[in-house]
Order: sequence, then structure tokens, then C-alpha cells
Amino acid sequence: MLRASLRQVSAALKEGRVTPTELCQRCLALIKSTKFLNAYITVTEETALKQAEESEERYKRGQPLGILDGIPIAVKDNFNTAGIETTCASNMLKGYISPYNATVVQKLLDQGAVLLGKTNLDEFAMGSGSTDGVFGPVRNPWSYSKQYKEKSVPKSHSEDKESDWVISGGSSGGSAAAVSSFTCFAALGSDTGGSTRNPAAHCGVVGLKPTYGLISRHGLIPLVNSMDVPGILTRCVDDAAVLLGLLAGHDPKDSTTIQDDFKPFELPNLTDVSKLSIGIPKEYHAPGLSSEILALWSKAADLFKNAGAKVVEVSLPHTRYSIVCYHVLCTAEVASNMARFDGLEYGHRSDVKDSTESMYAATRREGFNDVVRGRILSGNYFLLKQNYEKYFVKAQKVRRLIANDFAKVFRSGVDILLTPTTLSDAAPYMEFIQEDNRTRSAQDDILTQAANMAGLPAINVPTALSERGLPVGLQFIGRSFQEKQLLTVAKWFEKQVQFPVIQLEEVKRHDNGDFQHQKSASFS
Ligand code: GLN
Repeated sequence: MLRASLRQVSAALKEGRVTPTELCQRCLALIKSTKFLNAYITVTEETALKQAEESEERYKRGQPLGILDGIPIAVKDNFNTAGIETTCASNMLKGYISPYNATVVQKLLDQGAVLLGKTNLDEFAMGSGSTDGVFGPVRNPWSYSKQYKEKSVPKSHSEDKESDWVISGGSSGGSAAAVSSFTCFAALGSDTGGSTRNPAAHCGVVGLKPTYGLISRHGLIPLVNSMDVPGILTRCVDDAAVLLGLLAGHDPKDSTTIQDDFKPFELPNLTDVSKLSIGIPKEYHAPGLSSEILALWSKAADLFKNAGAKVVEVSLPHTRYSIVCYHVLCTAEVASNMARFDGLEYGHRSDVKDSTESMYAATRREGFNDVVRGRILSGNYFLLKQNYEKYFVKAQKVRRLIANDFAKVFRSGVDILLTPTTLSDAAPYMEFIQEDNRTRSAQDDILTQAANMAGLPAINVPTALSERGLPVGLQFIGRSFQEKQLLTVAKWFEKQVQFPVIQLEEVKRHDNGDFQHQKSASFS
């Protein structure tokens, strides 16, 4: 049952084949036996069981609130949750309890969803590996799959070694790992430069970044306000459509949301793709793209071609500037966003009391990691009076050119763009941390960031396993607010590729941090 889709589990709950409490208990047990993945920062066991009990009552009365009633969901720890700690994986917010729920969290609860806990991330969502948070890195569940071990781990490694396990991707790595290890049915992430799609690709799950403004950001602790969107991580495309339908729409608390109500849709089973035009942007043949991903991408294009779709090469000439522009715009917005963390109103406050200035400085030094501090410094530099035009305004103009490129391609009749999501499969942790965050982000966001610049919807669909036995995904980018078309095509593709189910090994972490295979602790 833990592997079922949202509609399947909802039907099972309605028919009484499983109860919300049973589901919740199974998920909680699995969270415990997979604790070594470090996917969750906070597990809200008590409140989750209480919510499950309440849901059970509603089912008994025959009055479930909606399709999510009684279904366990996880939320990235940069969404505010009333009464539950929200840390952004930062010392700055350890112990912080928000007085209100983010709109998306409230919408989930209004549907009767059971909130299992808050998932791990890079500090303040700055990163692409989920390795830069104060609670430690997230381990990719595929590191413990038969598929990966058989192909990539030497037989002599009878115990799990640091050098073997691979990153989950990020920054929503906790959410992606939670969905892929079946500890929850779906999870919320956020996406500013790829943070939902990247970990989805590495963990073999669906990751949807909706059009900017379609889902409320109220209560999502901002990274880059002009690009942030709540992301949706699920096991299949249909589930992403279900969640989108429940979360999208106008929010008076977020003035950047669409004015109209959003009409939820069911995804048709496309049988004929002959009227579709699929664009292959040539600039996405980026330096560093692995040959196997390149091959997979061409194979996917052929799949559409052979099914009768028109597949055309297109050009998005300004895409290659998206990373450098992102660096300027992201850090500038970070510099102003982070100004609120001054040790006065909430969050960490240093004991240094010599002067108000020194208290501010010490609070921020103690509260933020190097990545956040580095971005604040760069951002303030770009915003200096003498630099503002040269960097910030210029980056804004180039951002417009990037968006115009997409608009031109879509105007020419292309319906959907097909690209890889990541340059390669997930890197081993030890290899990944050799590079600094800045270099990593520049490399890892290269295929995903431009969609955020343009505000367009994009989705990762798990596609195949790499030679190392790890997931690889492809990305579809659609027209603004055309999620239905995007998801319909993604669903067709998902059906064609039949991505393999993860076969998890039984592993257990000892108290001393080592791993050992054990029959007693099980993933399933
Ligand atoms: N990797 C990018 C960054 O570090 C994007 C992060 C995100 O999408 N939240 O800024």
C-alpha cells in the first residue's frame, strides 16, 4: 500500500481496506528504520497520529474532507508550520516555531492530509546536493538499492562506506528521498533554480516546478522572491496533477499569485502525439553533459518522433547567461531577504552584548553557514550604488532576454521543450563535496535555472537507470500556465519509459554511525 498512487490509496481508505492510522504508523515505522537517510529534520509523530485519528473518524462518518484525507505527506523545512519547528536547516532558525501555516501547508491540512514531518535541505535552500545544511547531508535511497549495489559497489564492501553512497540532489533532497523511499506519499519542495527537479532526477521521482504565481509562496521562507515556487514531489505524474489541483490558485496573502481560480484537471491518457511539436533546445548540449544522458535524451526525442510527433531543434541563445545572471539576482535578493535575521525579532541571538552592532554581527556569523554569508556579501556588492546598474539592472535585462527566447520558441508553434534535468547521475558524496557550493550550483543548475528566470512550468520525469544503477531523469518545459498540457505529455512519456521500481536493500545504522545489513530492519 505504501507504494500506491494518491488515487489508489485514497480509494483504499474510502473502501476501508486500510485506515489512516495504519498508514501513518507504517510510514512512521519506515521513517525510523530509514533514519540513516537523514531525509527528515523533524518527525511530527504525535500530531501525525492525532491527525490520522481525526481522519479515521471522518471516514467512519463517511465524510472525508477530500482526496488527501488520511494520506501521509512531508513538507520541506522551509515552509512555515504553526506549532512545528521550521529551521531551513540553519542554526539561525533552530528552535523557531512559526505562528502560522504557509498557505500550501494549510491547504494540505484542509484536505485532511497527515503531516509526517519536515524534510532536510541545504541551508535556506541554497545548494543542489542537500549536503550544506546544519543537520548533515541527505543520503540518496538509491545508494541502498540492489540496482546500484550490484553495478557500483565492490563486493568487498560488506558494510556501507562513506565513499559509496551518493547525494540526493537538492536543495529539496529530503523531500525527494522521503518520496523515493516510500516514507510518505508525496512531499512539498521549493524550486528557485532547480531545487525540486534536481533531487527528483537523482532520486527517481517526479518533480514539478509550476508556473511562477500559480501556487502561493506565502509562508515559504524566501530565497529569491522573484523566482521561488513551491514544488511538488511525487511517485507519478498523475499524483503531481492531483496535488497541483489542490494547491494552485489565488491567495490574497501572495500578491504575485494569479487572480483567477485554478480549475483542477484530470490527466487524459494521450494516445496520439501526432499533433505535438517537441522542441529540442540545442544550447542544452551543455559542457559536462554525460554521454549516457545525451544518448538518453536523443532516445527520448526518437520516441516522440516514432510516435508521430514533430521534433524540431530550437535555439534559446541567451540560456547560457542564466547561471551568471542568476548569481547576481539570487545574491542580491538573498542580501535583502536575510537582513531580517538580526537576532532581534526571532531566530538565533548571539550572547555577544558589547553593542547592538556587535550583537548583529555575531548573530549572523554564528547563525549562517559560509554559503549564506558568501551570498549576502556578493549580493550587497552587486547592490552598491556604483555597481547597481552594471550588475543588478543588467542582469534583469538579460533575464528578460532569456524569457523572450522561450516566448519566441513557443510562438513558433513548439508545444513542449524536452531537455535533460541534470548533467549526470548523482555523484558520490565524497566526490560532490570536493567542489565549493558556488561551483556546484553553477554546474548543477545549468539545465534547470532558465525555466525559473522565465517563470515557466517544468517537470522532471524519471526515465532510466544509468550504467551505475542510478536514476536519470528528463525535463519537460511548457508554456506559462499550461500545466495541463505539460503534465499530459509527461504522463505519456512516463508510460512509455516504464522507469524501474527501486529495490531497496535491508540496512540498519548502528548507534555509532556505521551501517550494517540486517534482516530485521526493512524498507518495505
Ligand atoms: N542551486 C541553486 C542555488 O543554490 C538553486 C536552489 C533552489 O532552487 N532553491 O541557489
